[in-house]
Amino acid sequence: MKATSPLIQYLKAMAHPDRLRILAILRKGPACVCHLQRLLNRPQPYISQQLRLLRQAGLVSARRQGQLVFYELTELGQLRWMDLLLRSAVPALPRRLSGCPCPTCHPNPRKRSPKRLRRRI
Ligand SMILES: [Zn+2]
Repeated sequence: MKATSPLIQYLKAMAHPDRLRILAILRKGPACVCHLQRLLNRPQPYISQQLRLLRQAGLVSARRQGQLVFYELTELGQLRWMDLLLRSAVPALPRRLSGCPCPTCHPNPRKRSPKRLRRRI
């Protein structure tokens, strides 16, 4: 097996605590860099570097939505064994953060009124 084989790249991409955390966050839904930055308490270039490695390994893809770029798991990143691994290896992380300006933490108030949002929670 060559050192550059897709499987080696895939496993190497996951062999890092912060990249595992990023995958665990994305397992719950797409997130933008500012959200990941706050959750992991790391600077933006660091997060971007980790996301680049995850994208190169085919685990994560990027999607532009307005001015923000959202990252999400690819089909490969959603494999069942990955799910089991992340659930046991990474402690639960909050989905919403206070003080984070991203749309995940602050859904558009025009789409969902605070009343409806409160009822849903
Ligand atoms: Zn956020």
